[in-house]
Amino acid sequence: MMERPTELPRSPRHDRLASRILWGMAGGLLLGIVLRVLARFIPSIQSPAAWTAAEILDPIGQVFLRLLFFVVVPLIFASLMNGVAQLGSLSRLGPLATRTFALFGLNMAIGVALGLFLMNTVAPGERLDPDTRSQLADAFNRQAAETQAQAAEQPGVSLRQLVERFMPRNVLKAVVDLEVLPLILFALLLGVAATRLPERQRLATTRALEIVTALTTDIVHFAMALAPIAVAAMMTSLVLRAGLEVLKPLALFVVCILGGILIHLFGTLSLLLKLLSRRSPLATFKAIRTILVTAFSTSSSNATLPTSIQVSREVLGISPSTTGFVLPLGATLNMSGTALYEGCVVLFIAQVYGIPLSVGIQITLLLLAVLSAVAVAGIPGASLPLIVALLTTFHLPAEGIALVIGVDRLLDMARTTLNVAADVVTACIVDDHLDGTQG
Ligand code: ASP
Repeated sequence: MMERPTELPRSPRHDRLASRILWGMAGGLLLGIVLRVLARFIPSIQSPAAWTAAEILDPIGQVFLRLLFFVVVPLIFASLMNGVAQLGSLSRLGPLATRTFALFGLNMAIGVALGLFLMNTVAPGERLDPDTRSQLADAFNRQAAETQAQAAEQPGVSLRQLVERFMPRNVLKAVVDLEVLPLILFALLLGVAATRLPERQRLATTRALEIVTALTTDIVHFAMALAPIAVAAMMTSLVLRAGLEVLKPLALFVVCILGGILIHLFGTLSLLLKLLSRRSPLATFKAIRTILVTAFSTSSSNATLPTSIQVSREVLGISPSTTGFVLPLGATLNMSGTALYEGCVVLFIAQVYGIPLSVGIQITLLLLAVLSAVAVAGIPGASLPLIVALLTTFHLPAEGIALVIGVDRLLDMARTTLNVAADVVTACIVDDHLDGTQG
């Protein structure tokens, strides 16, 4: 069995990039705050600042995001199909898939349990006074109505709807709409088919898919070169538009969520790495800094996927077959930050409206939060409609979503970071065990 080095080889290129993105983030944040403070004293700069945010800063951020989104479809397709095809034989898919899905489920369940524990202990919803509640509800009324409308369009989970979701009549049309589930199923099936090809053809297929991955990875390099500036622009624009005032009344709620996310990110995931892999948690977290800052600044697991695949292969040394299988699936299905957040928001709204949720109901909430997190797309703000669906399921007022919409953007950044980190940790563990079974 191959021993993993506890200290990973440092990659100066990735180290430098991660620090540059961090500096960009801090610089952008600071500039946004300075401009907002200035606007208070010199109101005439308010409208040029808003114009700059919408017409200059947002487009710069979008160039970075769209470069990543350009490659998401070919990358998910090529890496997932290759992940299965490279296994060579289907008998090796079983252990890989079983470990991957078991770790996904475990991660999300621990995440929700942790979040619910914190929310029950601190009970931030019970401390929100009625005045603040109605102010928040008024301020975010319109967005709440939009989210409720989106929730009404969410497909259910009957067999017919599931077939429709995973196997639409026209897979290309689904892909054009960036629906990832049909793409995943299609790529997995083709990968399975590839394992049954004669060896020479299978190898030719995996080589061709490798080339697609290499090409898309190069576009990721372009995007990442732009990342420090784009992230700075996105941060400044965010602060200019959203401001930080909205944090005040919800400070305790935000602290609970961020606390839960941090404990899960650095506590649970480190523990899993320590117990189930041969990697040092500290070295692993250092090595994936670029992934974490990309997730934090894009709030999108899908947009971070190209970077996760690249860094996991190049810096963590995880095999292409594991990264190709685990990471695209994880970006779509494994959302421990989202599951934690969903459970906490439901409990928070129940607390605000003074509706107690018994332990039994909270256990159901845990299960439903995990299941609905699986259904959340890896894009910004995607969990809000599912939270509305959960609120309705538990007979809680769906308009309650208005209370958290103002802080959702910030919390989205944090939960996406956890979502993506859990995928990479799963890939580390699964890969170490495959080494073991193969060695
Ligand atoms: N933004 C999250 C992600 O991409 C999904 C969510 O809204 O929770 O992972």
